[in-house]
Amino acid sequence: MATGRDQAGLEDLGGGLYAYLQPDGSWGLSNAGLVSDGEQSLLIDTLYDLKRTRRMLDSMAEATPAARQIGTVVNTHANGDHCYGNQLVSDSRIISSTATAEEMNQVPPELMARMLEGADEMGEAGRFLRKAFGGFEFEGIELTPPTETFDGRLEVSVGDHAVELIEVGPAHTRGDVIVHVPAARAIFTGDILFIDGTPIMWEGPFANWIDACEKIAALEPDIVVPGHGPLTDVKGALAVRDYLVYVRDEARKRYDAGLSSREAALDIKLGDYSAWLDSERIAVNVVTLYREFGDSSPAPGPLEIFALMAELDR
Ligand SMILES: [Zn+2]
Repeated sequence: MATGRDQAGLEDLGGGLYAYLQPDGSWGLSNAGLVSDGEQSLLIDTLYDLKRTRRMLDSMAEATPAARQIGTVVNTHANGDHCYGNQLVSDSRIISSTATAEEMNQVPPELMARMLEGADEMGEAGRFLRKAFGGFEFEGIELTPPTETFDGRLEVSVGDHAVELIEVGPAHTRGDVIVHVPAARAIFTGDILFIDGTPIMWEGPFANWIDACEKIAALEPDIVVPGHGPLTDVKGALAVRDYLVYVRDEARKRYDAGLSSREAALDIKLGDYSAWLDSERIAVNVVTLYREFGDSSPAPGPLEIFALMAELDR
């Protein structure tokens, strides 16, 4: 997964829109976006650490003067790879859904730093954590929360661009938001879409995520910037939906047959989906689905889940 780590770059989408892509989109390698018009700018998501966020902001400022002072930031959700860099735009108006703002404190950067420090004593789970997150610098980041929250929908103007923030969570996390720019037929989806990589359902419910994929398709965008992976279009949204439906159906069969979530995760054959990056995330998806099915056995804790992902990742 080390390949492509330093090939991050800005892509000009036309009409004042940009995507900042971090190949190969594996753990923590998130995408971000920029909508600009005249002197105004809106940044969609910051990155996992300050160095990466600084590099991104510099490349945006070079591409368009509007990005020299970012007016508005939207955090699509609470995962650190979409908000830990907020510290570098702390003078901006920072918007998220209410649920995202509440979730943001749950995994602060210090916790990631401490977990990595202790990784050697955590066996398989530690090995996995180091592989997934060891390339980021969490030390010294001050979590910078949103200055403004909303529920449902919010329209923001950026020069002449009307930008719609649409809450579609809980799904990937508790408060997922997609960012729609109708005039440009563009959507920045946050982690509702992973492309060529495996979606990870921390929160659910499953049905909300399916609805979110279908909502994206119904808006008929020409340009879709996923939270991870390369640019896509409506097909990308439908592929994520199909993966989730497949995994839900396979998990359900095993739940009904009395298998534990761990047994189910080890047993499900991913077929073509095994070619997607980070296929070990099936472990998290099955645990979340089991919770939704009403599984009454104690849910595995984070370390157990990371150990299972390490096992699946061999
Ligand atoms: Zn992400």
